[in-house]
Amino acid sequence: MDVLDEELKEFQLKLEAILKEFLEQGRVEVYGNLRIIVTSFDKIACLKGNTIYVNIKMQTYPDFVLRYIIAHKLVHLFPEWVDLISGLITIGRVLEDVLRVRVEHPGTYIGHVNLYLLELEDGKLLVDTGFRQTAEELVRSLRDVLRGSRLREVVLTHIHNDHTGGVRDLRAAFTPEIMMHQQEIDVIGFMRGVVERGGDQLRTLGLDERLRRDVLDFFRFNLQHLSVDYEPLRGGEEFASVAGKWRVVPTPGHTPGHVTLYDGERRVLISGDHLLPNETSNVSYYPVEGYDALRSYLRSLVLTESLGPELVLPAHGEPFRNVKERIDYLLAHHRRRLMEAMAGAGRGSDLVGVARSISWSRGHFDMLGPIDRWLAVLETLAHLQFLINEGFVEARLEGEKVLFAATGRDGSELDRILHKIRGER
Ligand SMILES: [Zn+2]
Ligand SMILES: [Zn+2]
Repeated sequence: MDVLDEELKEFQLKLEAILKEFLEQGRVEVYGNLRIIVTSFDKIACLKGNTIYVNIKMQTYPDFVLRYIIAHKLVHLFPEWVDLISGLITIGRVLEDVLRVRVEHPGTYIGHVNLYLLELEDGKLLVDTGFRQTAEELVRSLRDVLRGSRLREVVLTHIHNDHTGGVRDLRAAFTPEIMMHQQEIDVIGFMRGVVERGGDQLRTLGLDERLRRDVLDFFRFNLQHLSVDYEPLRGGEEFASVAGKWRVVPTPGHTPGHVTLYDGERRVLISGDHLLPNETSNVSYYPVEGYDALRSYLRSLVLTESLGPELVLPAHGEPFRNVKERIDYLLAHHRRRLMEAMAGAGRGSDLVGVARSISWSRGHFDMLGPIDRWLAVLETLAHLQFLINEGFVEARLEGEKVLFAATGRDGSELDRILHKIRGER
């Protein structure tokens, strides 16, 4: 038996022990042929009859996640076990017209996502929809909360799967209008194009075959739930609630069509991923005509500051108030990252080389998981694009490869430029 088989066997035994423990709790009379099989399927875990198929990739998951996933699957066989996974969604009031719907997602770096349910004058509006894996629970919880009132609209702050994963299930259950900014709808078209052409564009970004395959898989996975009809937002739309008025404020940068909702009277911002209390939002390059992701992000921060929110309801983490401090921190963070990217480019480096020279909050570039590595590459490119536009870095083609190199323009000039962006409003 080789090493891999040993590991597999150990993993299988671990899963069986969890299953046995659940069964020994005595609430199920028939054991029957209930079993777990480790597979290499794409799905993390699925259920067919009395067999739970668990993906081999889950070997690296912490025990509590395995327990959660197995319990989750068992609930379909034994509905009375629903309390095993209860607590996945907690709903609490944060304002007279706003409920916070916190959806746990163990096993992901981000851990949970906050959705916000607004009480409009004529129904309810939900901001974001959580992961696809938690969509069924979300529908169940919302049915309890809605109690006869209608979910009229769903506003998606942006395209990421922790915000859009529940869209299909929600639409099937409540038929709300699904709204997303036009620029974000265009990104779906871009993803579709990349998948249809087998990821050629990713090769020109300098991604190796493996990373390219992972990204394509990720796009394919997301396109499954993103393929619905959207009502496009352009910014400025208003939703009157029972206690105020929420206006759509585009805040591009995290993604090209990211939006927030702002109540100027009460100075409350529902910030999506634009502004988070503990995380620095990823700022990703997108091949959208005229789009400079980092410049957009910095401008969106300055815009947010000028709106003067006193309370921020973020998509991840707890509501917070120290907005100005947080924005100062983020501006300094990106200044630092620009300097690192400039130094990383040095006399000539490819994209991944520059990405390796940046200090990532989740660890060294080579140690990141495939999706984090993809986000890090896109964030590096966003910083390089800004530096190129300002004349600090140039890109040149050497053979088949794009190399980035510092032009020698003095880095201290950067402060003047960042200052100017801050003073633009
Ligand atoms: Zn996001
Ligand atoms: Zn998010």
